[in-house]
Amino acid sequence: MIYLDYSATTPVDRVVLGQFYRDVKTYYANPNSQHALGKEVQAKIARSQSRLSQLLAIQNHDVIYTSGATEANNLALLGWARKHQSSGMHLITSPFEHPSVTACFSQLVLEGYEVDVLSFDADGRINLEHLAQLIRPDTTLVSIGAVSSELGIIQDVASIHHICANHPHVVFHSDVTQAVGKIQLDLNLIDLFTLSAHKFYGMKGIGALIKRHDIVLEPVLFGGSSASLLRPGTPPAPLIISLTNALDIADAEHKSRIETVSRMHELLVSRLKEIRHLVFNSNEHSVKQIVNISLPGREAKAIQEALSEHDIFVSTQTACATKQHRSEQVFRLSQDEARATSSIRISLSHLTTESDIDQFVTVLKKVAS
Ligand code: PMP
Repeated sequence: MIYLDYSATTPVDRVVLGQFYRDVKTYYANPNSQHALGKEVQAKIARSQSRLSQLLAIQNHDVIYTSGATEANNLALLGWARKHQSSGMHLITSPFEHPSVTACFSQLVLEGYEVDVLSFDADGRINLEHLAQLIRPDTTLVSIGAVSSELGIIQDVASIHHICANHPHVVFHSDVTQAVGKIQLDLNLIDLFTLSAHKFYGMKGIGALIKRHDIVLEPVLFGGSSASLLRPGTPPAPLIISLTNALDIADAEHKSRIETVSRMHELLVSRLKEIRHLVFNSNEHSVKQIVNISLPGREAKAIQEALSEHDIFVSTQTACATKQHRSEQVFRLSQDEARATSSIRISLSHLTTESDIDQFVTVLKKVAS
């Protein structure tokens, strides 16, 4: 089996899983309970959260644990826009967002908000001048993902921060789900950001919205208020602890993981160049973990299925948008229907081997011929 779909999700790290299994048995009390056992779990969560803040190197942010990045994006975008409706109903986003971001903006349009989508250069980097021009007195939020899920393009978070910071009524939200564990980012430059543990070898079902202390949101879920007004319900202590553990390992191993991925990326790209008519959609601004290619004239689904028959697993587009016949992100970047309907995303990991790449390219060559 050759797994090349690490950007859809990663396998859980062995150490994270082992610790999770122990924590499920130890920290089973409800952290909202006022007895000693509940308080012990609450204290464990607090320690884990403090370590998470340390790992993320954030100074003025609160952590709201969620089921993943989808829920976190919903809380950030709906929660901010609705709370600050009286200050303005104009929002700005990028054309390369994950469906959990774009779907929130579609909902907000139905609620009467106006949403502008930014233009970009030939490499898919957001046009910063356009951003500065679009901001109006009634703009309350700018949402631009740090790394796009299908093309892996890295945006200039520092410059976006500086532009937004010139307008104190505007907050900057960034979905950093595909950035965590892949690139170094100064997260203090972002007012609200969202992440998900299963993208960095953590468990599925745990993520976070991390927001500057002074940012006030409208709740999206309603319920008991003991743990967090913004995310009522029983906090899943073992999952919360596992998120920190996964990040701790990602942090400790960052250098060696990136070295391996860079080597695998170089090998993959040079081997893919052997295939005639193959087009690269990702570029030098993309993270090394994501290589998006097209075989114009072929159907993406058919390529994926043919590879799957050989036990090789890749994505045609972001796993959350698989009902569409083409990759919207590739279409927006290339304006080429043939590329957008024939694109596949190969995503690499430090677990990827030379032999994985060799076998993958060998099969892809047959599929492409
Ligand atoms: N944002 C991005 C950029 C993603 O890649 C994903 C996962 N495909 C999500 C959000 C959604 O994350 P989750 O599965 O944790 O809801």
